[in-house]
Amino acid sequence: MAKLGRELAAKGVDVISLSLGETDFFTPDFVKDAAKEAIDKNFSYYTPVAGYPELRKSIAAKLKRENNLDYEFDQIVVSTGAKQSLANAILCLVNPGDEVVIPTPYWVSYSELVKLAEGKSVFINTSIDTDFKITPAELEAVITPQTKLFMFSSPNNPTGAVYSREELAALVKVFEKHPDIFIISDEIYEHINFLDKHVSIAEFESVKDRVIIINGLSKAYAMTGWRIGYSASSKEIAAACDKLQSQITSGTCSITQKAGVAAYEGGLDTIKEMREVFLRRRDLVYGLLKEIQGVKVNLPDGAFYFFPDVSSFFGSITTDGDVIKNAGDLALYLLNVGHVATVSGDSFGDPASIRISYAAADDKLVEAVKRIKFALEGLKNEKAV
Ligand code: PMP
Repeated sequence: MAKLGRELAAKGVDVISLSLGETDFFTPDFVKDAAKEAIDKNFSYYTPVAGYPELRKSIAAKLKRENNLDYEFDQIVVSTGAKQSLANAILCLVNPGDEVVIPTPYWVSYSELVKLAEGKSVFINTSIDTDFKITPAELEAVITPQTKLFMFSSPNNPTGAVYSREELAALVKVFEKHPDIFIISDEIYEHINFLDKHVSIAEFESVKDRVIIINGLSKAYAMTGWRIGYSASSKEIAAACDKLQSQITSGTCSITQKAGVAAYEGGLDTIKEMREVFLRRRDLVYGLLKEIQGVKVNLPDGAFYFFPDVSSFFGSITTDGDVIKNAGDLALYLLNVGHVATVSGDSFGDPASIRISYAAADDKLVEAVKRIKFALEGLKNEKAV
C-alpha cells in the first residue's frame, strides 16, 4: 500500500499515507551527536557480533532500571533491528514441523519467519470484541506435544492491545503446565503504552528462563533507519543467536551502536514527550472514527495504530460498479477514491479489518479520517445482494 501510495503521489495526487509502521518524529539530538562523535573518533571497524560490551551492558542496565529484570551482558545479543532478533530466535529454536502459537492479528513477519524455519504457525484468532486479546483457555486449547514456541507483541502491532499484569499472570499459569514451550515477547512498542508502566512476561520468574525478549530503538527513539535491536534471553539461546548472526550480518553498524549507548543512557524525556503526542492523536482519531457508520473501532491502549473492523462494508458496490469483497479491496478503494493509504488486515492475519497508523500530524489525521468517511459514505446505500 505504501508503494501504491507513492506511485499515486508521483502522479500528482495528494495522498495521505497512514500505512507505515514508524513514528514521524526525529531521532533525538543527543543520540545524533553521539553518532557524529563516533564517526570522528573512527569507530569504523567490525564490532563483536553481539555488539560492543559497553552497549550490551547499557541494555542490561536499562532492563534493570526500567523493567526490574536481571540480565547479564552476555544474555543480550544486539542485531540490525527487532526483526533480525526475531529471525535469530525463531531460526535457532524452531525445527521443521515444530508448532508456533501466534495470536492473530500479529505483526506480518511472524508467520513468514516461522515458514523460513519450516515450522507450522498455529493461530489463535481474536477479535475487536475482546480487544484482540487471548484467554488462558484459548491458549491451552491449541497446545500440543509439537508446540515449541508462543510468540506475541504487547503493545501489539497492528491492534495497539496491551496485556495487563493480571492477564499475563493468567497466561503464565498455562505455561507453567508446559515447561518445554519457549515464549518470544516482542516489546518494541514498550514505551508507547497509555496504560500503566509496561509489563514484560519475563517479570514472571517461573517462565523467565524460557522468555526471549525482543526490543530495540526503532520506535522509542525514532531510529527505524539506524537498524538496531536486541534480544535478552538465557545464555544458551543468546549464544545460539550470536553464532547464527555471525554467519549472516555480523555485528550491526558501529556508529549506530555508539548512538545506542547514548540513547539507553540518555533518559526517557524525549520518549515521554512522544507518548503524550501519540495519546492526544489517539483520542483525536478515535473520536473521529467512532462517528463513521459501519466502522467498528475500539480504543487501543498502546502503539500508534487503529485496527477497525470494516467487514460491514464487504459486499458493497463502488460508484464504478466494483464489489468490495474484502479488506484488501477496501484499502485499495480508500487509496484510489479517498487518497488515504492504510493496510489491509490480511497481512496481519485478520481479514475483517484495516490498519490505520496515527503517526502523522494532527491536521493530516483529521483530513485523512474526513476522506475515509466520505469514501465510505459513497459505498453505503449500494450494498450488493
Ligand atoms: N516487531 C514489531 C511488532 C514491529 O512493529 C516492528 C516494526 N514495524 C518490528 C518488530 C521490527 O522492528 P525493527 O525496525 O527494530 O526491526
